[in-house]
Amino acid sequence: MKIPISTKPNTTISNKTAGWSNFKPKFLHEKCTACGICPRVCPEGIIYQTAKTNSAGKKYFDYDSDYCKGCGLCAIECPFEAIKMEKEEK
Ligand code: SF4
Ligand code: SF4
Repeated sequence: MKIPISTKPNTTISNKTAGWSNFKPKFLHEKCTACGICPRVCPEGIIYQTAKTNSAGKKYFDYDSDYCKGCGLCAIECPFEAIKMEKEEK
């Protein structure tokens, strides 16, 4: 008997994996110093530097919400409190 508990390998892009999480990070762009720590700690590799700048002239970071697991590591590790976790309304 086959139990369909997993998808095929290499399907990450086609399988959006954020659905089960109740929490999502909010990136506070004005506080971002572009230090580059958050993408190093994200287990999903979905944090990236944007081409947009805040009022301090820093190219701030953001993330792809389609694949965020809501683990909160980015918010914990940001030394400038530029990421906060928020409960999602569903
Ligand atoms: S860790 Fe914080 S300050 Fe550093 S790039 Fe990420 S959001 Fe910006
Ligand atoms: S909450 Fe976790 S999965 Fe989502 S962006 Fe932050 S570190 Fe990555």
